[in-house]
Amino acid sequence: MDRSDVLIVGGGNAGISLAARLLRDGVREVTVVAPQPVHRYKPLLNYVGAGEATMADLERPMTAVVPAGCTWIRDAVEAVDPDAGTVRTRGGRNLQYSTLVICPGLVEDWEATPGLLQAYADGWMASTYVPGSTPQVWPRLSALRSGSVAFTVPPEPASCGPTALKPLLMACDSWRRAGVLGSLRVRLVLPEATATGIPEADAVLERTFADYGVEVLRETRIERVDWDAHALVLTGGRVLEDVAFAHAVPHYRAPGFVAEAGLSTDASPGLVDVDPETLRSRRHDSVWAIGDAAALGIRSSGGALRKQVDVLSKNLAAAAKGKELSRYDGYTVMPITVSHRKLMLNEVDREGNASPSIPFLDPFVPRRFTWLFDRYGLPQVYWRRLLRGKV
Ligand SMILES: Cc1cc2nc3c(=O)[nH]c(=O)nc-3n(C[C@H](O)[C@H](O)[C@H](O)COP(=O)(O)OP(=O)(O)OC[C@H]3O[C@@H](n4cnc5c(N)ncnc54)[C@H](O)[C@@H]3O)c2cc1C
Repeated sequence: MDRSDVLIVGGGNAGISLAARLLRDGVREVTVVAPQPVHRYKPLLNYVGAGEATMADLERPMTAVVPAGCTWIRDAVEAVDPDAGTVRTRGGRNLQYSTLVICPGLVEDWEATPGLLQAYADGWMASTYVPGSTPQVWPRLSALRSGSVAFTVPPEPASCGPTALKPLLMACDSWRRAGVLGSLRVRLVLPEATATGIPEADAVLERTFADYGVEVLRETRIERVDWDAHALVLTGGRVLEDVAFAHAVPHYRAPGFVAEAGLSTDASPGLVDVDPETLRSRRHDSVWAIGDAAALGIRSSGGALRKQVDVLSKNLAAAAKGKELSRYDGYTVMPITVSHRKLMLNEVDREGNASPSIPFLDPFVPRRFTWLFDRYGLPQVYWRRLLRGKV
């Protein structure tokens, strides 16, 4: 049986940046289990959906991002036995760990919305959240000249859900500049009463929706998709008919092995049950979790991982020496474009108070330079610093 000091499940933003940071901190045996051959910088998916980036801008081979000194097992974790301190992979390997960090992100819950998968397969639907379909989004949106179009924000848990507004608002700006916005019926389906739940951000967004003439359908979600009739059936019975194109984001849950191992908050969505401040499992001291799959009581984001990786790496060292654990303040970020080239960062703490990374910069004011930073600056910070453990 293979053995490692720290076994990390998942090779996304969380897994790779944590592995790199631990190796920098002097941890010797770090293993990442991750099945996919490609690593994606997901925030750029929304820019692909707005014609501002290509898939090549956001994809790198895993071999280029796994840090030197880290063992990468190209396989998926299928089961965890926290009492025995072992993991079983789909390929039949058994791995033993001293410390387990669970960060496999979220998986699409296609069954939650009957008809949605068929609509994607049919090509009528596509979204920035389903990478295989993302290259279709901008050609479809930019070709629209009239008719009805629908967008959704996914219900929680979701991966930085409110950023699903980016393709909507960048498309509205583009339609306005093309002189066709008035000929389109644009509808937005929101799971809650407002888009973010942060009053300052929602005030700006409500003005923006009104300015573009976006019809907002609140506290509802897609219950069923009649994909051959191009209709969306919402909870409450309302039906959106003759939709020319729908940017509908699937619902999400954690991978099933978390709940099956008795490590989750509930059976579904089955996020890892951790102390949201120390990031340690409430059920097993040797198990920790960060990222989208962890129940942290925040809207998850890649930006939040900057702080989570720092706290977790300190806590793994502190726990080994029996010292006091550090605490994660719940910082997160939801960058949203309000027009073609203006963006508000929406950086908040766990209570929803402004928590700007640049002191005194109001994170709820849309700015051109924050758009440029989000599109061009942050990807460089991601590849060169975050994935190299320099957080
Ligand atoms: C369209 C989109 C736009 C976004 N925009 C922003 C933004 O503007 N700003 C921002 O801060 N954040 C943004 N995010 C959120 C950010 O990308 C995520 O919060 C971040 O990637 C989470 O990292 P993670 O490692 O937890 O999960 P992921 O990055 O999803 O990585 C999880 C990895 O685990 C692997 N895995 C899954 N199951 C298993 C298994 N059983 N065994 C082993 N490995 C497994 C997966 O293959 C995957 O590689 C966006 C996300 C999306 C989808």
